[in-house]
Amino acid sequence: MQVLKFGGTSVGSAERMKSVAKIVDYPGKKIVVLSAMSGTTDQLVKITNALFAHNLNEAFRLIKELEPKYRDTVEKLFKSDDYKSKGKELIFEHFNLLRSFTMDMFTHNEEKTILAEGELLSTALFHFYLEEQKIPSILLPALNFMRIDKDGEPDLAYIEEHLKRELAKHPNSELFITQGYICRNPFGQVDNLKRGGSDYTASLVGATINASEIQIWTDIDGMHNNDPRIVPKTFPIAELSFDEAAELAYFGAKILHPYCIRPAKKRNVPVRLLNTMQPEAKGTLISRNASGDSIKAVAAKGKITVIKIKSTRMLMAYGFLKSVFEVFERYKTPIDMITTSEVAVSLTIDDNSHIDDIIKELETYGTVDVELNQVIICIVGDFLADKHGYAVQIFESLKDVPIRMISYGGSKNNISILVSSEHKNDALLSLNEGLFKIKR
Ligand code: ADP
Ligand code: ASP
Ligand code: MG
Repeated sequence: MQVLKFGGTSVGSAERMKSVAKIVDYPGKKIVVLSAMSGTTDQLVKITNALFAHNLNEAFRLIKELEPKYRDTVEKLFKSDDYKSKGKELIFEHFNLLRSFTMDMFTHNEEKTILAEGELLSTALFHFYLEEQKIPSILLPALNFMRIDKDGEPDLAYIEEHLKRELAKHPNSELFITQGYICRNPFGQVDNLKRGGSDYTASLVGATINASEIQIWTDIDGMHNNDPRIVPKTFPIAELSFDEAAELAYFGAKILHPYCIRPAKKRNVPVRLLNTMQPEAKGTLISRNASGDSIKAVAAKGKITVIKIKSTRMLMAYGFLKSVFEVFERYKTPIDMITTSEVAVSLTIDDNSHIDDIIKELETYGTVDVELNQVIICIVGDFLADKHGYAVQIFESLKDVPIRMISYGGSKNNISILVSSEHKNDALLSLNEGLFKIKR
């Protein structure tokens, strides 16, 4: 069984959905995971923000602004009057549901229910389209099997049991469609796997059914050596190891959700990144196989906060670091980079939700400085311990960029450098020139 995930642009219009139908219409069992049509989740976020702010007029306006995209899709997707009216009815129901939220009290529960609408709409429309085309398929509701636990982590045992139960109801079917991103929490309420979470759904589904391959179909021909949104000349990488891809995803390569390589790696399911707009392109294969000892790619993760704690005692006492780390553990705030000196420690976080409490507690151990708007530039490859020269190449490339922190040796796949956000683009461009010999 294969898992094929199509992102927002890949299902972003009637035309695109028709292309997806062509791609998935081949013999063999597969689960197709769909995102919301492009722009939809962004708009749903705006609607929820308006509702949180009790701005009903704005919420109605935003809902009205979204609707024509769906009317137009229905008009162009379906051939027969029968399916056009099925499609219209579907949209009417979903948009009425959106409008109903403007009447009552609005909490995070209602927010999550609204955010789920994008994937519910795209999968329902695609399923109708396959039906009209006489391509047999089963719509599997993700809310029946995708689940997170009380810490917001996917509940793998639950997902496995319930997904297998859903699949077993249709032993003779080959093509299954389901929603990416959406899930339930331990209380049974609608929730999600955070923005970009459809990749994570695909990986969790692929891992739990031990798929032969997970394919992530998007709008670019695989993982590139640098961020194509910033650097004009980049190229696709043919192969990556799980660890290399996981570091790139975590440190900002938007093509993959930050955690989506973990489940695939755990069950050793290869992940292939492919381009819906150019299906014949080779893309990127991510697997257990090492991919050679070289620098593969560069990524950047923004909105980083750096916290420096200087011990009030002259020498760092035993237990100082432990006490510092325990503060972050108490607030469930992961640390990305860390450097230490005799009397101080600097570390970075990307989640500022508890920053005030964290600072207050850290101040009992020393003086605390905080700087916002930092960026981690992450250089990924296979840096074998007995090879030398990588660091020189990197620092030579970055000789004109002010560097705030460096982390080398923590993992054999990653060298991380912290710069302030105004130097992000220059750092990525300089590394493209210095490491990959591509002139600006
Ligand atoms: P989807 O909607 O299909 O999930 P995303 O927008 O989430 O697509 O991810 C694809 C986008 O990721 C590309 O269009 C590209 O701009 C961006 N991107 C950022 N870094 C990289 C990279 N290193 N390689 C490829 N794409 C990247
Ligand atoms: N629709 C969701 C988002 O825009 C999930 C996804 O596309 O992966 O974040
Ligand atoms: Mg995405």
